[in-house]
Amino acid sequence: MPEPVRRPYVAANWKLWGTRAQAASYCERLRELLPPAPQRPAELAVCAPFTALDTCVAALAGNGVEVAAQTMHAERTGAHTGEISAEMLLEVGVAAVVLGHSERRELEGESDRALAAKVPAALDAGLRPILCVGETEAEREAGDMERKLRHQVGEGLDGVSDERLADVVIAYEPIWAIGSGAVATPDQAQEAVAFVRALVGGRSERAADELRVLYGGSVKPANAADLLTQPDVDGALVGGASLDPEDFVKIAAAAL
Ligand code: PEP
Repeated sequence: MPEPVRRPYVAANWKLWGTRAQAASYCERLRELLPPAPQRPAELAVCAPFTALDTCVAALAGNGVEVAAQTMHAERTGAHTGEISAEMLLEVGVAAVVLGHSERRELEGESDRALAAKVPAALDAGLRPILCVGETEAEREAGDMERKLRHQVGEGLDGVSDERLADVVIAYEPIWAIGSGAVATPDQAQEAVAFVRALVGGRSERAADELRVLYGGSVKPANAADLLTQPDVDGALVGGASLDPEDFVKIAAAAL
């Protein structure tokens, strides 16, 4: 059997950063720095706040960089004050959406059950879901990493048919590594990402070969190559370091 070719995917998660003015100048710099799309080692995405999404879409049009939102609601309409639907994101040209980031799980109460509805809703609407999973430090120390990942991956993909599994991107983000500088070792990243892939393989071998699994957590230009050259690591979800377009482009260049 030939080795599957998974094109790496590297996404900049701006979190709570990015006025429209900041977004416009960031995207302009990104365009200057990036080689033409066919020469890039990875597919790229910028995950911007809602108010800057259309600015990013306009600034990156024709440049091959996807624009992603950082959350969405599963419903199309209804009594959900403050929420946004997949259809609304598509209307402004958004291509992907981060779902289940640990900050939203912890601080905004986003549950696995909610994600079980959001992931298929995003796919059905035509958005690429970037499903985040990962364990806390205490869970890792207690030997509970696999149990946590099994639960999060199982619930997050529960409503996705086997045929659509490979259209989901999963980001393995150990919570202890996010924003902490305490990056996972390449071996830790490889082990956990391979475990996530094996979980998908329990549903469909083909999907497990094709689906991209990213690593996220304190990725920087200095550690990107060691992480992104691990055999199962198909790219990165980058928070803090992605706010500097130079650093983001260096990280993307490390993806193989
Ligand atoms: C993230 O926000 O998904 C993330 C990985 O953040 P950081 O790179 O800052 O750890």
